[in-house]
Amino acid sequence: GEGLPRPAQTRIMVVANQKGGVGKTTTTVNLAASLALHGARVLVVDLDPQGNASTALGVDHHSEVPSIYDVLVESKPLSEVVQPVPDVEGLFCAPATIDLAGAEIELVSLVARESRLQRAIEAYEQPLDYILIDCPPSLGLLTVNALVAGAEVLIPIQCEYYALEGLGQLLRNVELVRGHLNTQLHVSTIILTMYDGRTRLASQVAEEVRSHFGREVLRTNIPRSVRISEAPSYGQTVLTYDPGSSGSLSYLEAAREIALRDPHVEQAQQAQHERQ
Ligand code: ADP
Ligand code: MG
Repeated sequence: GEGLPRPAQTRIMVVANQKGGVGKTTTTVNLAASLALHGARVLVVDLDPQGNASTALGVDHHSEVPSIYDVLVESKPLSEVVQPVPDVEGLFCAPATIDLAGAEIELVSLVARESRLQRAIEAYEQPLDYILIDCPPSLGLLTVNALVAGAEVLIPIQCEYYALEGLGQLLRNVELVRGHLNTQLHVSTIILTMYDGRTRLASQVAEEVRSHFGREVLRTNIPRSVRISEAPSYGQTVLTYDPGSSGSLSYLEAAREIALRDPHVEQAQQAQHERQ
């Protein structure tokens, strides 16, 4: 894919939803690979002790590997833990090891405990178009670090009963972090995952989410697809595992929408429009 605008500055997107199993990790790795295939330079930060994003990207993350834990707790430079993702040009990953499970507690007694990831990213000098942060299914200090580091929150919502339940808590946390720690932070993107267009429930939930959030919701829904769920066991994203599949095409299209919704591009267009 060519012809997509590159952002004027690095867009840092926090993929969050404290519910587990809604498609955070799947969306992070497949959107990141899609953006890279569209020509962008993209870093995935795996902030979940499970390390599912690292696994899905085929990046080494056994317990001896330098990881995001060392960055957060030991102040190791991010550049010393970032690995290139095999087979996808322009895609990189800061892996998570099981050590990260202890970080939630260890961070509590450290100085600047909420802004350690933000500082590490600020000091990282490699040029990047996007950083996607895959959050754990909780609203603890790891997720707070992501919310302080990022400007945009991307919420995957699974099209099922109770899809919106629990989102209030996430949105309140976003407001709290915006008010106290990071004035830039806002929910920029909602993506509907595991969408089954044949069921009435899915379309009802989609309608409810759209009426609740409006323009933040991407037009592209991610379908429920076996190919998407198989890919991680091969250490691949669906983009390389099955490039022509519906799952692959939908993530490419979602990435296109995101690239075209660059807040800076939109501001510049707005300013130009007002001058005319
Ligand atoms: P989270 O990171 O929010 O816990 P995951 O991305 O790990 O969620 O997804 C939960 C499970 O659902 C995984 O087994 C994943 O493979 C599967 N899954 C996610 N998205 C899809 C999809 N579009 N189609 C089919 N299975 C999916
Ligand atoms: Mg996950």
